[in-house]
Amino acid sequence: MNVQYVDAHCHLQFEQYAEDDAELIERMRTEGVAGIVVGVDLESSQKAVTLAEKHEHLYASVGLHPNREADEWYEMKKYRELAKSPKVVAIGECGLDYYRPVEMNDEVKRKQRAIFNDQLMLAAELDKPLIIHARPSRGTMDAYHELISILEEAKKKCPRLRGDIHFFVGGIDEMHALIALDFTVSFTAVITFARDYDAVIRATPLVDILSETDAPFVAPEGRRGKRNDPLATIEVVRKIAEIRGEDPEAVRTTLLANAKRLFTLKD
Ligand SMILES: [Zn+2]
Repeated sequence: MNVQYVDAHCHLQFEQYAEDDAELIERMRTEGVAGIVVGVDLESSQKAVTLAEKHEHLYASVGLHPNREADEWYEMKKYRELAKSPKVVAIGECGLDYYRPVEMNDEVKRKQRAIFNDQLMLAAELDKPLIIHARPSRGTMDAYHELISILEEAKKKCPRLRGDIHFFVGGIDEMHALIALDFTVSFTAVITFARDYDAVIRATPLVDILSETDAPFVAPEGRRGKRNDPLATIEVVRKIAEIRGEDPEAVRTTLLANAKRLFTLKD
């Protein structure tokens, strides 16, 4: 198929799509939207691989989300086994989530860091990019600052470490630190209705941006509160061009090339 867009982060394997996934995947194909189906635990990672193996325009990422730290311990060998599929193009989503105000404590943080560190090691071993989820506690940049210091340390041992910081909500300083570490930042359809991201979208070099949806979450303006889907990538790319005041077609082709380069997608 003729790929025009890549949704760098969606969860098409979630139960929200149980009724109509085939139809939606076919619409993605006709609209030229490829997608990275991202696992959040072992079961959803397995499902992501199954979907990706069935459809040429879908790829998978296998990982354990930081908010699942109480439900599953990271068994690296199971994820390593899954990553043998040629359709697995990344490790994650993994990272640090300090947003939950009630349950957050040092023990939770310690577990999140340990699980994240294992996934960093697997990504380095397999030479695959990471898909990182980092969410700071309210009113701070704590999770980003910690992430940056973890990645700085890890890069000393594993210089090829790279990846995408999904659903980027950091500031311009955090963006610069992360792209200096060979990470891209990606934006969802939240940018179609919230203006908080405009400054960072303008400040980021275009070659360091990916488009994503995080579907089924955060549907774009006009569909807010409803289930989202990877077709919204088209709106995300258009909005990035509008915010930057750049030619939409030039932005589309650059963002497409960025995703192909990071995830080593074939034409
Ligand atoms: Zn996600």
